Amino acid sequence: MRVRSWLWGLALCAAGTAAPAAPELKMDLPDWAATPVADRDLGHGVHMLESFGGNIGVLAGDYGVLLVDAEWPQLNDKVRAAVARISDRPVRYVVNTHWHWDHVGGDAEFARGGALVIASKETYRYIVAEQARSDAAADQYPPGAAVAPALTVDSGTQEFHLAGQTVQLIHAPPAHTDGDLIVRFVEADVLQTGDTYFNGFYPDIDFEHGGSIDGMIAFYDTLYALCGPRTRVIPGHGPVASRDDIRTYQAMLREVRRRVAAGISAGMSEQALIASHPLDDLDRTWGGNLVKQPYLLAIVYEDLKSKGLGGR
Ligand SMILES: [Zn+2]
Repeated sequence: MRVRSWLWGLALCAAGTAAPAAPELKMDLPDWAATPVADRDLGHGVHMLESFGGNIGVLAGDYGVLLVDAEWPQLNDKVRAAVARISDRPVRYVVNTHWHWDHVGGDAEFARGGALVIASKETYRYIVAEQARSDAAADQYPPGAAVAPALTVDSGTQEFHLAGQTVQLIHAPPAHTDGDLIVRFVEADVLQTGDTYFNGFYPDIDFEHGGSIDGMIAFYDTLYALCGPRTRVIPGHGPVASRDDIRTYQAMLREVRRRVAAGISAGMSEQALIASHPLDDLDRTWGGNLVKQPYLLAIVYEDLKSKGLGGR
């Protein structure tokens, strides 16, 4: 999930940018002091920490802790406290599933404490590009080497051997972005998806950074194939899921794509499509969280339209 500020949009207007602004996900930030970080023990030393931003995977070993994603920096003290309840060892590795701030905002805090931050090459590039656009007072992606990942991984699968366990970093084909890493805790039979998958509500798709509706739909076949019947899936947002949940989600997204493509084929404008409320029935199951129907319709419409898909 990504969060953009109003200021970002205003800056684009002031610069006279002709390109239409991409749909924005407007999110009210919480009262950080009142926001808890919940811990779910998934066995084999693997935990899921759940709070306002992206879910965190934790693997605690004898010599240190691996985190997958790092949450908003405003929650860093609470994340550290939750990790400390799991292990008294230091955080040695932080893997970024992708570049969005609600997953990487805490990187700098952990890097300053000695952790090695690891990401895909694309994620590294996107973070550095955001830093180049930011000034020192920016609350997201401030300039400085400490917030950029220190180690990048390429396509394919990399393996960690930590705490007597195997942790695979799998570079997914383009889905939520084109730099998504998914993480498999082999012995614990846990798969962490980053934002390629949200459990229980509509997705966000960052098509400006290589994501696409078709990439998301296709990716669920890959994800499903990595799962066994007892695999627990840590989604980017939402509670722990199973492989059956992934199939259900894929079917929902296929249906959304079909309806948007039908609207484009019928010559509807983006505004007319949104005004026709084509997802009201799906909203009852999937529309009750941060991503609402108009935003999803806008990103799928613009994604398909930009590729010449869905229309005659
Ligand atoms: Zn995201």
